[in-house]
Amino acid sequence: MKVGFIGLGNMGAPMARNLAKAGHDVQGFDPVARMPDGVSSAATAVEAAAYGKVVITMLPNDEIVLDVARQIMPAMRRGTILLDCSTVTVDAACQLAARATQGGLDAIDAPVSGGIAGAAAGSLTFMVGGSKDALETVTPLLDIMGGRIVHCGSNGAGQAAKICNNMILGATMAVTCEAFALADGLGLDREKLFDVVSTSSGSSWSMNSYCPAPGVGPVSPSDNNYLPGFAAELMLKDLRLSQHAAEAVGAMTPLGARAMELYSEFVEQANGRGRDFSALLPFFTDRKRG
Ligand code: NAD
Repeated sequence: MKVGFIGLGNMGAPMARNLAKAGHDVQGFDPVARMPDGVSSAATAVEAAAYGKVVITMLPNDEIVLDVARQIMPAMRRGTILLDCSTVTVDAACQLAARATQGGLDAIDAPVSGGIAGAAAGSLTFMVGGSKDALETVTPLLDIMGGRIVHCGSNGAGQAAKICNNMILGATMAVTCEAFALADGLGLDREKLFDVVSTSSGSSWSMNSYCPAPGVGPVSPSDNNYLPGFAAELMLKDLRLSQHAAEAVGAMTPLGARAMELYSEFVEQANGRGRDFSALLPFFTDRKRG
């Protein structure tokens, strides 16, 4: 299939590379990043979009996604599907869908979970919002880039699932880091805490698969001096998206709100930018209750 791919950063590059490796005809555009193996280079986003039967975007935020969509939609052939895999607001996903309909196009929001490792391995989870027909057309592509596809509902539902998931992730990582900081204070060995919690009712992905304590549990960014991985500023962005959504619908999300405050303090006042989101552990242990 002819695919236009816009945004070839940490996630987009391996995703596009996997599509090309599987035999799809991928034309990519990114103003900064190098083209991945097998992907041909378009001079502009518009050129990549005009080429594809499906156009994939993997971009940083709402503003950029909506701006790129404004540029490319007039150049996309009728019936083309815009498959946005970026993490953005539910509002942005719905705006993309409305604009696509106006232009005789289709749109799907399909944010991902699984990080850079999942993108490289082709094992991402896609959370999809959009029509069944459009999803059927893009499923052969999603199957290459991912291991699991969940059709969450109509446009916006994929982003809704993503921000709920990452609100849980932010809060569980924060409290897992707190537990290690408390264990240190109580003189409890970190390895012992892992052995107990990872097989008990306190277990979570943050503890079991992405342990924030260096040298404990499976290899994770904590073992690489907290280089991301999943950057703290991306977690902050996702927690802000969930709070924005919670305000819009009047949902009670006090732990999500507190996790957002903690990540905001870490990123903006404690040199957390560029560190993995599990580096809340040294952030806590370097401080004491005031
Ligand atoms: P990234 O910053 O590495 O890549 C984004 C790319 O977009 C960059 O290469 C940049 O040059 C390009 N870009 C910016 N403006 C552009 C424009 N106008 N036209 C074309 N390209 C443009 O970010 P990433 O880590 O690849 O994340 C991309 C998206 O995936 C984000 O929405 C992020 O929240 C989400 N996400 C990331 C992870 C992760 O672990 N990194 C996991 C899940 C979801």
